[in-house]
Amino acid sequence: MPCFVGRFLWLVLCGPIVALSPCLSQSAVRGLVVSDSLLRAHVYNLAADSLQGRRTGTIGQRRAAAYCQRALRANHLVPIFKLDSARTSYRQTFPIVFTNVATFGNLPGNGIRQAQTTYRQAELADGPLSRQDSSRALFGINLGGLLPGLDLKREIIVVSAHYDHIGASGGLIYHGADDNASGTAAVLGVAAVFDSLARAGLRSRRTVLFVLFSGEEDGLLGSAYFVAHPPASLTQFVGALNADMVGRVDKAHKRTPDYCYVLTDANGGSLKKTLEQVNAQTVQLILNQGGYNTVEDPEQSFYRSDQYNFARLGIPVLFFTNGSHSDYHRATDTAKRIRYDVLQKRATLLFQTVWALANPTP
Ligand SMILES: [Zn+2]
Repeated sequence: MPCFVGRFLWLVLCGPIVALSPCLSQSAVRGLVVSDSLLRAHVYNLAADSLQGRRTGTIGQRRAAAYCQRALRANHLVPIFKLDSARTSYRQTFPIVFTNVATFGNLPGNGIRQAQTTYRQAELADGPLSRQDSSRALFGINLGGLLPGLDLKREIIVVSAHYDHIGASGGLIYHGADDNASGTAAVLGVAAVFDSLARAGLRSRRTVLFVLFSGEEDGLLGSAYFVAHPPASLTQFVGALNADMVGRVDKAHKRTPDYCYVLTDANGGSLKKTLEQVNAQTVQLILNQGGYNTVEDPEQSFYRSDQYNFARLGIPVLFFTNGSHSDYHRATDTAKRIRYDVLQKRATLLFQTVWALANPTP
């Protein structure tokens, strides 16, 4: 790394607010990384016992929302959700209602159908809530803040992760360190680098919108509400990058942990090309080796996280993930099991890709 980049890194990531160095250039940004100590702090804080697994509608999720909101504010992001004609908020609250769903099977011999299991299905409330529904509804909270761009500020790159998880039950806390404190930490880590660059006088041409969803574990509800009630016209969203589970190493990569799956669909070709170029110039992770691509993945990962709500509307997306592992949705998904060295590389790839997409060459 050229020494001026090292000096610049110190200035923007560790030092006081400084005036823009005249020799600072876009190429200097190539040497920047997301701080590993910041990523570690975010993961430990979000996966702490006191947040009780961050289940949507619980006190743990509300504590996590307060934590994330403080981080958005600390990074000097602009609140994006309209409260009324004069005020905006970092928060977008949405109601979730539940219906009991039964699955049926035939009783042997007589053909009579019998309810075999019932479960509670979460849905976004459709229209205003009745008083009865209101007393039974839960409320999710999306969080969002933006960094306005320069000459292309009407064009928006969305960088997102869900911060909710599956809560606590049976005496166990499901910490959700990988799922998805890791992705939340990555998004907040990327925001911190953008903030440092902005304070040093370097801003991107396009606007970058940082969003943290809840309700993901209940069926991608937060992102569904967000795209139905967007803070700007969806036509302004030129790309949406989502990180869900980016802190662990799957079975296929035990010996080659410097990897990431980055999935897209037919609309994401140009984003993927940028990603591959940026990856080759920076962290050089192994990309998409193994079964997690959109077509062949038996687990259908691409359709199971928030980027899908953007992709189904034709918005180009990239989905960053490490794939599944044996602690997935178990109480053993803890902060101490995260590979912070690999998380840092993936978060850095996310930052570098967002920076490149937010600064298209004229
Ligand atoms: Zn997840």
